[in-house]
Amino acid sequence: MTHRTRSATLAASALLLFTATQPVAAQGKATDPLAAEIETRMTAVMPKVVAWRRDIHEHPELSNQEVRTAALVEKHLRALGMEVTPQVGKTGVVGVLRGGKPGPVVALRADMDALPVTELVDLPFKSKVRTMYNGQEVGVMHACGHDNHVAIMMGTAEVLAGMKERLPGTVKFIFQPAEEGLGGAEAMIADGALQNPRPSAIFGLHVWPSALGSLSTRAGGFMAAADQIDIVVKGRQTHGSAPWSGVDPIVVAAQIVMGLQTVASRQIDVTAAPAVITIGMIQGGNRGNIIPDSVVMIGTIRTFDADMRQEIHTRVKRTVEDIAHSAGATARVQLSIGGLITQNDASLLEKMTPTLQRTAGDGGFRTVNPVTGSEDFPAFTKDIPGLFYFLGVAPKGMDQKSQAANHSPLFFADEAALPTGVRAMANLAVDYLKSGGMASAKPAMKQ
Ligand SMILES: [Zn+2]
Ligand SMILES: [Zn+2]
Repeated sequence: MTHRTRSATLAASALLLFTATQPVAAQGKATDPLAAEIETRMTAVMPKVVAWRRDIHEHPELSNQEVRTAALVEKHLRALGMEVTPQVGKTGVVGVLRGGKPGPVVALRADMDALPVTELVDLPFKSKVRTMYNGQEVGVMHACGHDNHVAIMMGTAEVLAGMKERLPGTVKFIFQPAEEGLGGAEAMIADGALQNPRPSAIFGLHVWPSALGSLSTRAGGFMAAADQIDIVVKGRQTHGSAPWSGVDPIVVAAQIVMGLQTVASRQIDVTAAPAVITIGMIQGGNRGNIIPDSVVMIGTIRTFDADMRQEIHTRVKRTVEDIAHSAGATARVQLSIGGLITQNDASLLEKMTPTLQRTAGDGGFRTVNPVTGSEDFPAFTKDIPGLFYFLGVAPKGMDQKSQAANHSPLFFADEAALPTGVRAMANLAVDYLKSGGMASAKPAMKQ
């Protein structure tokens, strides 16, 4: 990030202290009585949403350690008179709001965990929390913006609880721990988060450094599956001056890195869906005149299509093993299934598109390209339709190119996007209930 951009970000963060206390302008698009009520209630709850977000931002907690955050959520949902279940999937919290009129059940999901990142954004509520992580002392930061997700959902809960008697159905609030690669969604589901009552659809949002207040998503594969490749290349150790007297696993590892790039660029149909294969770690040897015995490599594979995912796994394994074989070395390849493909149900997205268009802020509603990052939201959508979307949080006038990405120590979410988050979530829930919902069963999504 350039100096100029960083100054602008800091200026924007100073500004938001002012703007957040101002009344939120109504969009003037709400003609429906329930939508009009959401708008009024949303405006009233915004100062609290901002305060919650700052508090959670200042007190971030790592995956499966979201005790303080979960307690805050639990207390709030109980005060709203919901049926609340704490400790679902370790630190998860589920709240059920039963409307006064009959109708379907819809679930809303927010993730709560922070990351081992030392915050570099100069905010008054900057995180000063430090911890030991993998043997190193490091800061803890909401570098993925989940503080915003929790605050938006708490605000949405308050808005909808206030209009409970007029709600045609039930809203289930799922506050999830451990999204960052530690299986929080699966743990909550195993603990019954999708039962009693069972939702017929689920919505989730993620803050993203795109245009302020924009809502964006796409049908089908939206975020990638993330699978890990572990490779051990076994050669035969020898003197660095006489490679012919052994088998050099370093050169084999180099060939494997290049060979794997041809899987994505030469062997799959690039017009069908994109794919990324990255080797992010290579370890082998300890000095210049010794050819080591083995080299360890770790990488990630990102895909958007279930069949292509399988095909790439097969081709990666073959490429690695055959390259090693050609040099007289051996390679052990292990492919670990990681995050699932976040696939938006096309008919649910079609049904909810007018809501997204109506509730988006100035940035509007956008259909966007797939994103190679990964989410564990799809664990919830294995057999119910789901819709995951991004809320743009770049400061006004900025865009993704000028902004630090999620997980950066400079990641910055402008609070001016929070009203759009609450408005979108509350209206999605209500519009879904009003529509009568979707058939609750659907064929399991192929992963
Ligand atoms: Zn993240
Ligand atoms: Zn995230």
